Amino acid sequence: MDNEQRIDELLTQIIEEKDRVIGYPVAKDFDYSRLYEFLKHPINNIGDPYEGNTYKVQTHEMEREVVDFFAQLFRADPTDYWGYVTNGGSESNLYGLYLARESHPNAMVYFSESTHYSVRKNIHLLNLPSITIRAQENGELDYGDLENTLQLNRHKPAIILTTFGTTMTEAKDDVSKVKGILKKLAIQNHYIHCDAALAGSYGPFIEPRIPFDFQDGADSISISGHKFIGSPFPSGVIIAKRSLRDRIARGISYIGSLDTTITGSRNGHSPLFLWYAIKKMGVKGLEERYRHSLEIAQYCKEELIKIGIKAWTNPGAITVVLPKVSDPIKKKWQLATDHITHVICMPNVSKQQIDEFIQDMVQERKSATDTSDRAFAIQA
Ligand SMILES: *Cc1c(COP(=O)(O)O)cnc(C)c1O
Repeated sequence: MDNEQRIDELLTQIIEEKDRVIGYPVAKDFDYSRLYEFLKHPINNIGDPYEGNTYKVQTHEMEREVVDFFAQLFRADPTDYWGYVTNGGSESNLYGLYLARESHPNAMVYFSESTHYSVRKNIHLLNLPSITIRAQENGELDYGDLENTLQLNRHKPAIILTTFGTTMTEAKDDVSKVKGILKKLAIQNHYIHCDAALAGSYGPFIEPRIPFDFQDGADSISISGHKFIGSPFPSGVIIAKRSLRDRIARGISYIGSLDTTITGSRNGHSPLFLWYAIKKMGVKGLEERYRHSLEIAQYCKEELIKIGIKAWTNPGAITVVLPKVSDPIKKKWQLATDHITHVICMPNVSKQQIDEFIQDMVQERKSATDTSDRAFAIQA
């Protein structure tokens, strides 16, 4: 096979597989064709998006508008926010923890069992002491365990890592409850980073509201750009308090900017793509996407229950949790599975896809019953 053929084949394969992803949080209903011309240019957003820069082939202005958009959505203090477009939720989490450590060098980090794997790795990279807190059955932080553990370490500053949309069950930790516990224990030196990689983009639309943002008590919030919004390449956003960022800023004459970001060279296309998406959707469009996803998730849950499968969802979640599925179904629908399986109803997932998935589940149970009937007949 020559290279030309290999490229064609890869493309065909990606298109085929893409249609059946219902187990991972990636929206696929995007059209960025208006921006294709930009792929011909070496765009690089090196440096701080708010500072002057010697390299001018960049999209810093759009990047700042993306930060503005999410800062507003997350009710940040208009006079005290900052942020940048990252490589993804993992880098955003690393940044949040980095800021937290610089603000409270001797702190202990608390995070729950259901926290995303990037957090443990980041804590390790930053060499931070940490304690794992129990999670409740639904994946949410066990506030009682948090309170008891904090109590034992009251003399230390606390960094709490909350998750808004856990990976397996889309559980959401309540930031105001966490804040309440810190207040009750009089731990004044604290920092809350909210990992909202999955659910942050639609967090404000969830009813009833689940506290997670700056007004609720978060000091920094991370989201992924390629999940609910959708993008051809991974991206993320970190929103933090400007006053905290100022402590770590270092001037670098070679780039004529401040070194405030994790990586030096940064993707300049992804801020532009994100900017394009949010301009096109607006807050209203984002909300509509959420309502649609929620409706499909409800539908999926009901249809699964109808065929006797114990499916459930966390309040306001677009993730449907069900008992572990068989390997063939897991492979065909690319379903993330550990001791449970989940279907994530991203905005592109349709009722028709859910129907096909349900049909596969019915078919499989039917053939399983047939086999056990036969086994029974043989035994008899
Ligand atoms: C996806 C996700 C991450 C990691 O984000 P990437 O963009 O894959 O780096 C972190 N936390 C949560 C809760 C996530 O859902």
